[in-house]
Amino acid sequence: MEQHPSCLAMKKPNPNRRYSFKSILIILSLVLPACKSTKELPVAQTAPLLEKPKNIVLLIGDGMGLSQISGLIYSQKDASSFEAFPVIGFHKSYSYDDLITDSAAGATAFSCGVKTFNNAVGLNKDTLPELTILEEAEQYGLSTGLIATSSIVHATPAAFIAHQPMRTMYEAIAADFLKTEIDFFLGGGEEYFNNRKTDKRDLIQELKAKNYNVLHDYSDFVPKKFNPEKNLAFFTESKHPTSAIAGRNYLANAASLALDFLENHGEKGFFLMIEASQIDWGGHSNDETMVIREMQDFDRTIKRVLEYARKKGDTLVILTADHETGGFSLQPGSKFGNIKGGFTTNGHTASLVPVFAFGPAAKTFSGIYENTNIHKLMRLALGFVQAETEKNQN
Ligand SMILES: [Zn+2]
Repeated sequence: MEQHPSCLAMKKPNPNRRYSFKSILIILSLVLPACKSTKELPVAQTAPLLEKPKNIVLLIGDGMGLSQISGLIYSQKDASSFEAFPVIGFHKSYSYDDLITDSAAGATAFSCGVKTFNNAVGLNKDTLPELTILEEAEQYGLSTGLIATSSIVHATPAAFIAHQPMRTMYEAIAADFLKTEIDFFLGGGEEYFNNRKTDKRDLIQELKAKNYNVLHDYSDFVPKKFNPEKNLAFFTESKHPTSAIAGRNYLANAASLALDFLENHGEKGFFLMIEASQIDWGGHSNDETMVIREMQDFDRTIKRVLEYARKKGDTLVILTADHETGGFSLQPGSKFGNIKGGFTTNGHTASLVPVFAFGPAAKTFSGIYENTNIHKLMRLALGFVQAETEKNQN
């Protein structure tokens, strides 16, 4: 197709020409699909934008490449949240030992700013622990949070809080949570905390002893106010949460809950990582319906975060993926509202990954760069780089 449908819609009809009823019908059938509902198109920033963000929300769509985003956009009438981001860049996702990264190394690049070997979380290529952006945010007195639609000890959230050579060391990763003062975490995997095989520790009791409010709600909860004095550990499943197709839809509410909780939990701002974990699983199982449904769940969640950021003006929202999964593409025969997806692999691919940014310091995220650069740009935006320089000068 030479031109995008919307370009077609722009062609001005010749006023002198007489149109048969049939040709009017044809023109309408061409123009109408392009006229997406404008209801949700990006609205202007409501609160004035600060120069330096007080808060950062990092949104990671695990396995989400450009085709997964295109599939979402062409599967629904409403404009997607992706179309509301003023700044777009691309990152190179390869890890230290492979052009094709896994989620552990991919997330460690974001959390620690290093290229490491696949399967490692929070460790560098020499298997030494690296300070994560979440741990550093705590050192600067910010509040911190992690949310996932997988178990909370799965590769991506683990890379922000744990330091282990193998992403499958779930119980060791769970124990690493106790070595931090993370203020809020939500996801599955409760059994790695209180039904442990490697030791007889009960990390739920240990969390409570550390003044955590520990909740278990395996149904789809409605956010309510929690005592902001206490840190919050929220388990949504003993193992992995179910899929969006199977009815899981807590992510958008969890995002709203976390934003409200972290905002009221401290003065100095917050760092929050939200992962849509199961886009990747749809890619691995070459299940296009699952990919699109997980993308739709993620889109709803991103819209909640953007709403918050627009209202506050002090929050940098970064949206990206660790890698693409499945070699997904939109095939011939695809129609608006009914795409035909195809896959070239059950694994991850090395495609460049899009990065979307909104809010203070967003403009620094344009261009093509290493995935590790996202860590550097977050430290820069939060003022950690300057603070460190000043500390070294004194
Ligand atoms: Zn994967």
